[in-house]
Amino acid sequence: MGLLDDLQPASPRIRPTSLSAEGTELVIDWSDGRRDRLPMLLVRARCPCASCVDEWSGKRLLNVTTLQPDVAARRLTEVGRYAVQVGWSDGHDTGIYSWELLRALGDEHARRQKG
Ligand SMILES: [Zn+2]
Repeated sequence: MGLLDDLQPASPRIRPTSLSAEGTELVIDWSDGRRDRLPMLLVRARCPCASCVDEWSGKRLLNVTTLQPDVAARRLTEVGRYAVQVGWSDGHDTGIYSWELLRALGDEHARRQKG
């Protein structure tokens, strides 16, 4: 085990095989067969960009109560091989969502569904 081993993501080869906006959901098919249907509002609320999250403290600057409940992804642009940039219907487009973040949102959403 070298120093770099610690920096490897847990599942480096799991990535989306398809990513699409369907109504109020972002539908992600993963290379391991899992399918996530994420509510757009959840994805928008978890935007990781510098104007939504303080880069130093990690504190969320975005007030989610100000979001439009029917906010939708208008544009999905793959960034490198590790992330997607989302252009939202409210004009916000600086959020870059890594595959890891989207998986984590899928986990979070699944936990909420079980309630
Ligand atoms: Zn943002």
